[in-house]
Amino acid sequence: MNMNFNEVLKMKEKAELKTQAFINGEYTDAIDKKTFDNISPIDGKLIARIASCSEKDAEKAVKSARQAFNKGIWSQMLPEQRKSIMYNFASLIENHLFELALMETIDMGKPISDALGEIKRCAKGIRWFAEASDKVYGKVAMTRSNVSAQIIKEPYGVVAAIIPWNYPLMMAVWKFAPALATGNSVILKPAEQSPLSLIRLADLALSAGIPAGIFQVLPGYGETVGKALACHLGVDKIAFTGSTEVGKLILQYSGLSNMKAVSLECGGKCANIVFADAQNLDHVAQQAAGAIFYNSGQVCDAPTRLLIEKPIYNEFIEKVKHYSQDYAPLNPLNPSSKMGSMVSEEQMSNVLEYISIGLAEGAKLVMGGKQVNEDTGGFYIEPTIFADVKNNMRIAQEEIFGPVLSILKFETLAEAIEIANDSIYGLCTFAWTSDLNKAREISKNVRCGKILINSTSDGEWSVPHGGFKQSGFGRDKSLESMDQYVQTKLIWTEY
Ligand code: NAD
Repeated sequence: MNMNFNEVLKMKEKAELKTQAFINGEYTDAIDKKTFDNISPIDGKLIARIASCSEKDAEKAVKSARQAFNKGIWSQMLPEQRKSIMYNFASLIENHLFELALMETIDMGKPISDALGEIKRCAKGIRWFAEASDKVYGKVAMTRSNVSAQIIKEPYGVVAAIIPWNYPLMMAVWKFAPALATGNSVILKPAEQSPLSLIRLADLALSAGIPAGIFQVLPGYGETVGKALACHLGVDKIAFTGSTEVGKLILQYSGLSNMKAVSLECGGKCANIVFADAQNLDHVAQQAAGAIFYNSGQVCDAPTRLLIEKPIYNEFIEKVKHYSQDYAPLNPLNPSSKMGSMVSEEQMSNVLEYISIGLAEGAKLVMGGKQVNEDTGGFYIEPTIFADVKNNMRIAQEEIFGPVLSILKFETLAEAIEIANDSIYGLCTFAWTSDLNKAREISKNVRCGKILINSTSDGEWSVPHGGFKQSGFGRDKSLESMDQYVQTKLIWTEY
């Protein structure tokens, strides 16, 4: 889509924003009429006041979701009809591409060109799961001859999905597309920092033909409506993406309520291991910079710990610094912006605090380190690089979730593996080498859910995403994610 900055600004002025909850097929205020302020991190200004849902709204939405599920209007719809409605939904998203992208940009400060690309991928993902919906089915087990043993898959019923702010629509699609494809009713709880695109999406779902009660959106705070859903006896499954800290609470809520099924996509602190034998170090450095500064570093599987082999340590740092210059923060509504703002003032303060911690711990600041563009009223931080980091420093152990890269030196393959594994997280590890043996050793010995060799992007819908250790459990994307929204039932019949 070709556009210039002024055109984007004009479209922003004209944007019509929906701010209410979407329950049982219609937009509605929160029952107790509360709202919360939605602030744009681009300029620190109020965008809108959004319905702040509570336990009462959760109650109403769960009731509607259960009724719709029990009636079978979606769960027992002919698979090809369900598929065709999901196709309509994907097309409507494409028809409203710019509107949805604009909402994500003003809500959380990601560059408009990135938001457009991500929302296009969301539409593709919905089609991918729609297509899979009638291609995943049960089995008949081998048994004695007077028995028929069918192993079938049934949808859970009511699925609540709790979504973070870093990719508001994409993280929601990862959950609701497989949940809908398998016949569930879905209730989405967007992050309070970024509710606009999901609220708008609800209307598109209804227009596409998804029946009332099957797709609902409850904006509000995590500790109120998020907790109410996670504790609700009528919710069968919680699909959560967010911090490890809140992920642990979700497990407790499940245990204290109805033992609802839980899947968790939580934090990460991913190692990016660069061996001296990697081909084309310029390409590798460009990828390393791009992957840490994309989305202002607010990415769960960002390669935040860059491990460089000793012989190329200084040379490679210079290359990464060079490519990092491309990410000077700009207004994210400007189509040429490659890095926008942080999501909020709070997140900016957290990240600045980590930069002070890194300095106090004795890491060497080789680039950035400051808040910038303060005259805009928004929340921007320069691409920041620390070198000579030790893996026991807090900036190497804790998830910063910002544009801060920690660089470490290693001498042997075994040491690189040890450093990669020395983390409470286990989401993803990247390695760059032209030696297949090294690639194999890393793949075999690093404990995490994804290993990317000579790549920073696993963007296909056909592959699973998810973590080991405190990065969570369960998988998004791919056919594996569909398993998370169905239960296995055995039907044993003797003749
Ligand atoms: P967060 O945990 O603060 O919030 C995530 C969601 O949980 C929000 O909707 C929030 O309102 C809700 N929430 C907060 N407290 C709650 C509670 N007590 N009960 C129920 N819900 C509650 O995370 P965030 O700051 O929005 O997102 C950043 C985090 O998400 C990072 O840790 C990042 O690594 C993680 N993340 C992980 C993945 C992945 O696939 N592993 C993807 C994206 C983001």
